[in-house]
Amino acid sequence: MKSFLSLLIPALLITPFLTLSSATASENEAAKWSYSGANGPAHWGNLSPEFGACKQGKNQSPIDISAAINAKLKPIKFDYAMLVPESIVNTGHSIQVNIRSGGSIKIDDDEFFLKQFHFHSPSENMIDHVSYPLEAHFVHANEKGELAVVAVLYQPGNMDNQALTSLLKKMPMNSGDSSRLSAEDTQLFERNKSVKNYFRYSGSLTTPPCTEGVRWFVMQSRPGLSKRQLLAFQKALKHPNNRKVQPLNARIVTK
Ligand SMILES: [Zn+2]
Repeated sequence: MKSFLSLLIPALLITPFLTLSSATASENEAAKWSYSGANGPAHWGNLSPEFGACKQGKNQSPIDISAAINAKLKPIKFDYAMLVPESIVNTGHSIQVNIRSGGSIKIDDDEFFLKQFHFHSPSENMIDHVSYPLEAHFVHANEKGELAVVAVLYQPGNMDNQALTSLLKKMPMNSGDSSRLSAEDTQLFERNKSVKNYFRYSGSLTTPPCTEGVRWFVMQSRPGLSKRQLLAFQKALKHPNNRKVQPLNARIVTK
């Protein structure tokens, strides 16, 4: 009995992370929802009782960011020094890089750990009514399982974005496929930085179950991406994977 309990206690300690895993699991279920037709974004809220926030939520993502209020936000401290990726997966809904360990950010005097990042094309969030060709979402969770998403919007450029080069080489082209990644594949990611210029708002997951209470940090700096790289993402995704911008309602965006 004693040994059974000692097995159980560590399981209880990791429970907060289940919130994130179950959100990721629904994102991975290729069946239930899609980006077009009868299971498309306009119908997500009706597909399952668990997806209610998709139609009833008042703090949904993405949004069109304009008229942000200057609140002199504190810099976000990134520590991706020991970043070790695990795999790159074509989920059918996105291209997702799962992280084994080593990435964290400090915000609100709390530490959030990088769990995965994934891509949307075209961008989901818009800035001053402008859409961008690609958006990356870096999904972090703190020890309570609360989420903080850092969004990077990419703009069209003439040169390859070096940080994406080795990921693109391993990119699985068909839904359900995946490839292993090693630390070298994220070598060119910026390791330690303090970012001052960003927009902040309170939002949701942009895929079912559209859970709210997600802290959003949209970077103002927009790295470039070549046409060739963008086409590679679009070829693997097979279809646009952006949810349309949602009403701001009572929220404010700060910067
Ligand atoms: Zn996303």
